[in-house]
Amino acid sequence: MKPVVALVGRPNVGKSTLFNRLTKSRDAIVADFAGLTRDRHYGNARLGKHEFIVIDTGGFEPTAESGIYVEMAKQTRQAVAEADVVVFVVDARAGVSAQDHDIGAYLRKLGKPTVLVANKAEGMTEGAQLAEFFELGLGDVLPVSAAHGQGVRSLIEEALGAL
Ligand code: GDP
Ligand code: MG
Repeated sequence: MKPVVALVGRPNVGKSTLFNRLTKSRDAIVADFAGLTRDRHYGNARLGKHEFIVIDTGGFEPTAESGIYVEMAKQTRQAVAEADVVVFVVDARAGVSAQDHDIGAYLRKLGKPTVLVANKAEGMTEGAQLAEFFELGLGDVLPVSAAHGQGVRSLIEEALGAL
């Protein structure tokens, strides 16, 4: 069985861009519209010696009570349940949001192996700008740029190396 990696995070952080990068496909919808990818979406990925299945998800609001966000949250919970490891994607440029805190709390409670990645980190000097993500209580944040492919290999090493 190939390991399963779920990409989780609030809308617009770049989950689908990362999915496309990992699967080298145009399958996942990438858009400027928050929350367009509403369903779970599976792809095969291979990076170096790692072969795995990656699941893209819509934006996650664990506390959603109405509208499409309830269905998206349900889909995301199912993706997380199926995953061996969760990649929690945050936006390096936007910083920590309330929604990130909700998602972080959910993932911490769940206790599944989780790798925290700050996307859109191209051109950023590490350190100060990313330090605030420590608040999420999920350890070190890994800077990546899904759009430019930076840090993606390290991310997969981190996510799958320990399995
Ligand atoms: P999702 O809602 O989390 O699936 O996010 P998308 O993959 O649809 O991306 C949302 C927006 O962020 C799009 O405009 C992307 O082009 C942009 N984006 C994604 N990855 C990066 C990145 O590494 N750097 C920058 N600057 N923008 C990115
Ligand atoms: Mg998406």
